[in-house]
This record gives sequence, C-alpha cells and structure tokens, in this order.
Amino acid sequence: MSAENPSAAQSVTSARSWSFYAVGLLGFHLLCFAAIWTGVPWEALALCAVLYAVRMFGVTAGYHRYFSHRTYKMNRVMQFLMAFLAQSGMQRGVLWWAAHHRHHHKFSDQPEDVHSPEQDGFFWAHIGWILDPRWADTNMARVKDLARYPELRFLNRFHHLPGLILAIGCFLWMGWAGLVVGFIWSTVILWHSTFTINSLAHVYGSRRYDTDDDSRNSFLLALLTFGEGWHNNHHHYQASTRQGFYWYEIDLTYYLLWVMSKLRLVSDLREPPRHVVEDRPHPAVALRKAARQARKDFDERIDELKQRARLARQEASRRAEVLGHDMAARIEEMSDDIETRIDNLRASVEDVRRGANDRLDKMEEFVRDAAERVDELSQEMAMHMASLRARAEEAGDRAALAIDEIAEVTQIQLQQGASISQC
Ligand SMILES: [Zn+2]
Ligand SMILES: [Zn+2]
Repeated sequence: MSAENPSAAQSVTSARSWSFYAVGLLGFHLLCFAAIWTGVPWEALALCAVLYAVRMFGVTAGYHRYFSHRTYKMNRVMQFLMAFLAQSGMQRGVLWWAAHHRHHHKFSDQPEDVHSPEQDGFFWAHIGWILDPRWADTNMARVKDLARYPELRFLNRFHHLPGLILAIGCFLWMGWAGLVVGFIWSTVILWHSTFTINSLAHVYGSRRYDTDDDSRNSFLLALLTFGEGWHNNHHHYQASTRQGFYWYEIDLTYYLLWVMSKLRLVSDLREPPRHVVEDRPHPAVALRKAARQARKDFDERIDELKQRARLARQEASRRAEVLGHDMAARIEEMSDDIETRIDNLRASVEDVRRGANDRLDKMEEFVRDAAERVDELSQEMAMHMASLRARAEEAGDRAALAIDEIAEVTQIQLQQGASISQC
C-alpha cells in the first residue's frame, strides 16, 4: 500500500495485535451492557462525564496537538503526564498515535491515507483501520523526535497501563458502576467521538480553505471533540495550537491550554498567523511572488524588445539592401554623369586651351608684326630725322648766307649813309 507497509516479521506481531484489539474493542462495547446489572447511579454518570471531558482533553491536547504536531511546549514531567493522560483514553501509545496521524496528514484522502472515508468508506475510516494489522505497529521513523524519550517509549510499549490504572481506580472508588458506567462508557464514547474526526470531519461540514483533502469544519463535532471539529482549519494550518480560528469557533482544548500556559504548565502556544486565517500568502511569499512576477514581466518585456529589435534589424537590413540597390544605381548613374561631365570638362578645357593657344599665336604674330612695324617706323623716323637734319643744316647755311648778305648790304648802306652825312 505505502512505503510504510510492515515487514513479514511485523505482520506476525500485527496479526496477534489484531485479534487482541478486535476482541478488546468488541468486549468494551459489550461490557457497556453490564450497566443492566450495575445500575446507572448519578455519581457514576458524573464520573463518566468527567472522564470523558478530561480524557478528550488528553486526546486533543496530548495525542494530537502536542505529540502529533508539537504545536506548543512543556517540560519533560508535564510531557510524561500528558502522554499518560492521553493514553488513559486507550487509543494506544502516543508514538503510535502520532506516527499514524502524521501519516494521515502526509497522504490526506489519497490512496495511502490510513483512514480516508473518501478512499475506503465510513466504517473503515471510523474504526476498521484500527483493526487492520498493517497499521498495528509504530513507525518510529515518523516520530524520531518523541522516540528519544525512554519514558515515552515505555508508555508506548505498555500502552494499556494508564487505562488499566484508571479502570482499577474507578472500580476501587465506585465499584462495578464506577468501572462500567464511569470508565467503560466514557471510554467507548471517547473512542467514537475521536473517530468521528477521521470519519465525519472529512465528509460533513463546511470547507473554508481549499486544502488538498476533504477536511471540513463542523460546529457540532468541534463541541463534541473540544475543538477538533475545526478540521479544515487544522488541515489548512497544522502548526497552530488553536484550531478555532475565529472567536465564534469554540475550541475548549485551546482555552484550557491557554489557562495552563498562564499557570506556566505549558508554553509557546501557537496561533495561526493573520495571513493564514485570511488565506493570503505569507507577506514574504507575496513579496517573492511579486518579485517573481516582476522578473517574469521583465523577461517577457526583454523578450518582446529582443523580438522587436530582431524585426527592426531585419527591416533595417531589408531597407539597407533596397537602399544599397538604390544607392548603387544612383552611384552608377552619378558616375556616368560625372564621367560625361568630366569628358565635357576635358573637351571644354581642350577648347579653352586650343583657343588660348590660338590667341597666343595671334598675339605672338601681332607682337611680331608690331615689332616689325616699330622697326620700320624707327627706320622711317631715323631717315626722316636725317632728312630733317640735312634740311635744317641746309636752311641754316642758307640763313647764314642770307645773314652775311644782309650784313654786307647793311654795311654798305651804313657806309653810304655815313658818307652822305659827312657831306
Ligand atoms: Zn492533525
Ligand atoms: Zn484529517
């Protein structure tokens, strides 16, 4: 069935245990009818009620909230007394009870569950599994924290001892009625009340929390079992000593443990944290979740950006390709144009050069002509000058002759004039 299936050797012991427990259970139920002969005196009924109440407290505060779940603390003496009180309810040893209960929480309402009404039906979950030899032994691996105390191992081994001592006490105090009505009646009622948590609290009631199992909250079962009826609360948060999460969820066991904590008999009672009661994630978990979400959003955004970048790159390279083609065509066009222009320019330059050469030639020719003309003119001028000079000389000579003639005439005349005057 599960990893906890007993070995063959254990099965032999278990088979013996089974017959022993089956006979014991049946015997206890039959012995209830012995009240026909003992009568039902009110003292014995009161004893029955008190023993039911005290031992129900032993079951819930001891077997369940302390030994199975360790929801509060107490010293070793108190621990022993609590184990003794719990076992006086005759539900086997605290180690056996805790080991099976821890198994129940681990596999709640799954095929491996020890007592799931969903898997195996009401009768099995209620009482059948207790008679199953496969579950008769204590799986010590599940209760290592408890098994290190020898006094608990002793009580677990001789688990009938507390019940036996209580039974003898009842008989000595109130005789047969004390034993039958006071002890046996209360024990049988205690058993069935406890068993309702395994059978009914996973079937009837409301579910406040969406746990992985079928656990329910039931006001009636909570009254009957001193707070264990808030079973859905408990499956939702097992670490709490308190199982009634709201003020109106009556939890007698917790109230008594609270009084005991004030008397310093127990300590460190655990309450459910607010976020657990309100079924919200722990603030740190919420923060981690928010951080995870933020990182996820960030990653998604990065992925989106990467995708967009990739698309942009593809688009850019596509455009570059198109542009490249355009550019190449344009460059080719431009280079053709430039080439044409260069050719044109070269032709123009050639024309200009040719024109300049022609002009230079013409200028040269002009200069040469001019020079020749200047030479000619110079020669003409020289000749002209020479002629002028000759003519001037000639004119001078003539003038000098004329002057000489004039002077000679004049001399004559003067002489003639003088001769006349003297006359
Ligand atoms: Zn539990
Ligand atoms: Zn349960």
